[in-house]
Order: sequence, then C-alpha cells, then structure tokens
Amino acid sequence: MQWQGGRRSSNIEDRRGMGGRGLAVGGGLGSLVLALVVMLLGGDPSSVVPPPEAAGPGTGGSGPVQASAEEEQLREFISVVLADTEDTWPSLLAREGVQYQEPRLVLFRDGVRSACGTQSSAVGPFYCPPDQRVYLDLGFFDELSRKFGAPGDFAQAYVVAHEVGHHVQNLLGVSQQVDAARRRLSEAQGNQLSVRTELQADCFAGIWAHHAQKQRKVLEPGDVEEGLQAAAAIGDDTLQKRAQGRVVPESFTHGSSAQRVEWFQRGFQAGTLEACDTFSTGRSPGRNPGR
Ligand SMILES: [Zn+2]
Repeated sequence: MQWQGGRRSSNIEDRRGMGGRGLAVGGGLGSLVLALVVMLLGGDPSSVVPPPEAAGPGTGGSGPVQASAEEEQLREFISVVLADTEDTWPSLLAREGVQYQEPRLVLFRDGVRSACGTQSSAVGPFYCPPDQRVYLDLGFFDELSRKFGAPGDFAQAYVVAHEVGHHVQNLLGVSQQVDAARRRLSEAQGNQLSVRTELQADCFAGIWAHHAQKQRKVLEPGDVEEGLQAAAAIGDDTLQKRAQGRVVPESFTHGSSAQRVEWFQRGFQAGTLEACDTFSTGRSPGRNPGR
C-alpha cells in the first residue's frame, strides 16, 4: 500500500505497555484511571485524557511506551487509515440523515479494559459499541506482517476499516436492530444475521478502500486479494484461540473467505451504502431486521 502521504488521525489512544500489568503501573496514569471511572459512569473519557498528540511524540500520552521504530511506523500507518475513514464516512452518512461521530481507536498489547469488559491477550481486534471505540491488539498485527509480509499491510488496513464499519453500523442503528432481532430468533437464524452483519462490515471496509483509492491511489496490484486472504486466515486462528464467549461482534461467524472478498469488492467498486445491503439478499429478515 502507498500510505505515507496521508493525514494522521488525532483519535488514537495508546495503551501499549499497560495491559499485561494491569492499570496499577505508576507514572502519570491517574488521568487514565479517572477516565475509566468517567467512562464507567457513562461520561466521555476523552474529556479527561488528552489526545496522545497533545502529550508530545514518543510518550503516547497514556503510558510508558517503549516502542520500536517498526511499531511507531505501524502506529503511523493505523493513524493514516483511521484518518481515511474519518474523511470517508461523514458525507455518506449525512445522506442518511446521520451525523458521523469519529470513533476513538485504542492500541494495546496483552490485555485491555473496555466498556465491553476486560479482554485478555490474543483477543484480536474488536469494536465496543457502548464506548464507541475500536480496540486493536498489536500482537495480532505483528502476526499479520510476520506471516504475510507485504500483503499484510493491506490486511491491517482492512482490519481497521472493518472495525470502523461496525462503528458505522452502530451509528446507523443496524447493530441495535440485529441485537433485537437475535433475541427473537433461533440460534441458527441468529448466527445467519451475525454473518450478514459481518459481511456488511466487510462491504463498509470496501467503501473505505474505494474512497482512499480515489483520493490518493493507496492500493497496489494484488493488495485486495492477498490482503483479504491474509486477514481471513489470521482471523480464523485468532477465533480458535479465544477461550470464552465475548459480547463483541467478532465472536460470531464471519462468513466464508469467498463471501468476505465478494462483499468487500461490492463496497470497493460502488463506494456507496446502497451496495452494502447484505440483509436483503436471499431469504432474510430484510433491510430492517428489527422490523
Ligand atoms: Zn467484525
């Protein structure tokens, strides 16, 4: 991918170096603990924790981070992809009468606390609707680049865009309708809905790629095919590592690799929300699963 020239997002929260040791690591973490309390009380923790950029380069703003140059590069890369999603979604959602709220993106290793619970290592990436944050386990990203090399960077971008896709579903009310519908359905039917939800997030990731490509020609030949295969392969490994159920969408089946590529491509070709109606293809509860 050609990503170097892109804008950086200011919505990255760096919590590397904190997870495995819990939150009781000394040094400037008071504001973070306070932020968690604010978050648990339903407030906006970003009002307590300054964005990492405000704390100067290298500090990450919220923890003792000793990052390698490679990891700093990765952080830059994720920040550019997130910025691309911020540039993509507002106008598309405005057409639906929805105002886009930028999600925060939390980088972590080993473990992290979210409004969706405390997640231990090997959790993989996830989106937590109650706190509107995307959580990225950098160990998962290491695995992508180690195993897959160059196509790995598109795979990483795709993972970010897919999780932001869940955020868009949250803003559009899709997630809430699916949750409501699931409560009335059998487990098998519920899983079907979950697959459609996941495929829609893949299609939304395609919309991100469409716009990033149009703006800055970010993709190189082979990126999409190889990257999606890589992400799917790692995704399966990671799912198998998970010992217990989680309340976040990634705990459900994602659909076959072929389906995922197909829906990503639909979003990528069209670049519009209309292309991503995964709920009304075939026998299904329709576009509004909650009716
Ligand atoms: Zn997902």
